[in-house]
Amino acid sequence: MYAGIEAGGTKFVCAVGTGPDDLTAVTTFPTTTPKETLDLACAFVADHSADLRGIGVASFGPVDLHHSSETYGFITSTPKPGWTDTDVLGPLRKVADVPIGFDTDVNGAALGEARWGAAADLESCVYVTVGTGVGGGAVVGGQLLHGLLHPEMGHLPVVRHQDDDFVGRCPFHGGCLEGMASGPAIADRWGTPAQSLKGEQLEQAVVIEADYLAQMAAALTYILSPARLIFGGGVMQLEGLLEALRARLVEGLNGYLDVREIIEDIDRYIVAPAHADNAGVLGAIALADNAASEPT
Ligand code: ADP
Ligand code: ZN
Repeated sequence: MYAGIEAGGTKFVCAVGTGPDDLTAVTTFPTTTPKETLDLACAFVADHSADLRGIGVASFGPVDLHHSSETYGFITSTPKPGWTDTDVLGPLRKVADVPIGFDTDVNGAALGEARWGAAADLESCVYVTVGTGVGGGAVVGGQLLHGLLHPEMGHLPVVRHQDDDFVGRCPFHGGCLEGMASGPAIADRWGTPAQSLKGEQLEQAVVIEADYLAQMAAALTYILSPARLIFGGGVMQLEGLLEALRARLVEGLNGYLDVREIIEDIDRYIVAPAHADNAGVLGAIALADNAASEPT
């Protein structure tokens, strides 16, 4: 058994299992202070420690993923109050002496979807979440993509839509993708949470949201050339958004990259996650599996 911990900025989700078919003990609690929240995560692990072969943590970030760094396993420069420079792995190591995999929440979800979900037949994919924030993780050649840090796709600069005068709400960049297209950006712009939009406002929101997300989809297509783009997160439940995003990407490419897998098969190029409800915690289980399978 593995323990998976999805460490989200709003809530933590923990579970044990080895994959999508045997996830059990799913436990959710809100993300409060680091001490209170990590104590609950440690208690979850302690409860199941007898059967554990590994732990996976898929965390909000930014995080330090360099094994040789003194702050490996830390959440680093997050704007989330109280969580800057928080050691996430340290407390967990004290409760279970098993391999621990650690990565971003979206890298975890990308790995989970590549192993068991919407990209199971492919060597590469990108998983994007559009929710409280916007972020993305990538699998390339079957491996999670890391660089100097980890991808921070949500902060991509975007070109403002002609009908949009919203200034953007990213504390660092104002109108970056996350600043313009996250759930809270929608709520600020239209004065109502995304899930409550109706009528003309809903139509407008879908057009504008699709435009920003298509800019991201085009950037990912040009830079990484992944075999599939998986768009998840609460905002993607907006009625018609996935279809509008597909259409806007094809329109934006404007005949360049005239490849069948993108243009004719756009419905298979941009897809929803297969495990939308537990993409995060399943990703954490996949990270645990990776960590337990690595030669020591
Ligand atoms: P998080 O990003 O916090 O992990 P979610 O992916 O559920 O969680 O994203 C939350 C955001 O998604 C909120 O801003 C919320 O308004 C929006 N959201 C949730 N459900 C829906 C829905 N059915 N339609 C549109 N937006 C939604
Ligand atoms: Zn930003």
